[in-house]
Amino acid sequence: MLVKTVGLKEKYQLLINGEYTDSSNEQFFETHNPATGDVLARVAKATKEDVDRAVAAAKAAFDHGKWPKLTPLRRARVLNKIAEIMRERFNELVEAEVLNSGKTVAAAKGQISQAIEDFEFYAGAITTFGGRTNSVPNGFLNYTLKEPVGVCAQIIPWNYPLMMAAWKLAPALAAGCTIVLKPASYTPITAFILADICHEAGVPAGVLNVITGSGSEIGPYLTEHPNVDKVAFTGETETGKDIMSRASDTLKRVTLELGGKSPSIIFDDCDLDAAVTGSIFGIFYNTGQSCEARSRIFVHENIYDEFIAKFIEKAKKLKVGDPFNKETHMGALISKSHEETVDSYVKLAIEEGGTVLYGGKRPEGQEFENGYWYMPTIIGNITNKMRIAQEEVFGPVVVVMKFSDEAEVLEHANDSIFGLGSAVWTKDNGKAHRIAAGIRAGIVMINSPISAFPGTPFGGYKQSGFGRELSIETLDLYSETKSVISYIGAKPLNIFGI
Ligand code: NAD
Repeated sequence: MLVKTVGLKEKYQLLINGEYTDSSNEQFFETHNPATGDVLARVAKATKEDVDRAVAAAKAAFDHGKWPKLTPLRRARVLNKIAEIMRERFNELVEAEVLNSGKTVAAAKGQISQAIEDFEFYAGAITTFGGRTNSVPNGFLNYTLKEPVGVCAQIIPWNYPLMMAAWKLAPALAAGCTIVLKPASYTPITAFILADICHEAGVPAGVLNVITGSGSEIGPYLTEHPNVDKVAFTGETETGKDIMSRASDTLKRVTLELGGKSPSIIFDDCDLDAAVTGSIFGIFYNTGQSCEARSRIFVHENIYDEFIAKFIEKAKKLKVGDPFNKETHMGALISKSHEETVDSYVKLAIEEGGTVLYGGKRPEGQEFENGYWYMPTIIGNITNKMRIAQEEVFGPVVVVMKFSDEAEVLEHANDSIFGLGSAVWTKDNGKAHRIAAGIRAGIVMINSPISAFPGTPFGGYKQSGFGRELSIETLDLYSETKSVISYIGAKPLNIFGI
């Protein structure tokens, strides 16, 4: 068991222009430990006036500050320093993340390790990122410059608090943008620690501002703000739609990483044990609170019964409970209301005719008297048209369906408004790549439970959003392309001939 030593502050203030400040009306909200329900700290509740202050600081840092004009190599040095300090403060980050999100210590360690590598990845990537010269008529020279897009509002969810912050901050900082970061109200603490680390590493005041508060109150104001050039959002599809329409009036650049209902396709020629354990991880990791959770499993009819038996057997082995116990596989859900939502989806599945094959309730025992919990839950006897197979539950609930051939399963897998992740399990290389080509999703995992590393593009098709994170192309989404056309002919041009 990891000893909880982290020194959380009693209150977290807004970070604007390099200084901590109360909100303009001095209001706070409480942030909790989802595993116990205990209050961890008070957090400043930003007002519209505070949004104005944060955006003004980011705009001044963009228009008049040195950050956007630094050479990429100099910015890279700061990003590498951020990674170095994150490594030094690794245990503090892990403990704060576990306390504030209820996720397991193993999951937090993995996610924070990846967050560190994101900064290192973009430190390297930005030094090779740039424009190009283009083939143009004789007498002309054309080259492109990549310039930072400007002030970015970055709005992130609660499921991977620090990792989502890193996915957004690292490429934006590397590209030379300035930022107003808005963490989710459930999980603001590690964003503040990371912001401190960024400043210690050399990010100038005003380049990174952190505001906290109700998304529905200040979010719309931030996403409509005339001095915000880009909105990068990760969260629910419905919130993404609202953001996109609000950003349209000022034609902001928008990238959206939204929800999913990702399919796993399990053929009868797969390595069954690998497919079972991979699918267990695919849905129950992070207590199912993953955008790319493989929450719809399609199993070939020849191995359906065997798969289900093994899948239930492995689900029974999952240890749910104390997130600080390093043996625990599944920690808490984020909130009481989310636990209720998850449970209501299980009830809906039963009403629709589904059968709960395992779980379907809160775990029992003294350990679960407080906090927000749900058992790993497997539902059979459903069809892909049912709501339980179409809507994102965002919890440890998976539906399992039977199929008989490749064309049929591809049609069902694609029959979804979402298109984020997908997985295929087979030993037939050709079949795996035919499925990869046919799936309408941003990510395809072949015989792999893992969906992302720094460098692999992460993002969705259809209503899972657009834009990619984690990758080289993400730098394009934080940049404008300027085309410079120069006439270099010996004779002056007089096109009108006058
Ligand atoms: P959410 O949409 O409720 O909130 C996300 C963020 O938006 C929070 O910071 C919230 O305060 C803010 N917000 C809320 N209303 C807003 C508004 N009207 N305008 C602007 N900002 C607003 O999502 P959540 O519940 O925090 O996160 C879970 C969702 O995130 C799931 O749907 C999940 O699939 C998705 N997600 C997607 C990815 C991806 O990469 N595609 C990654 C992680 C999570």
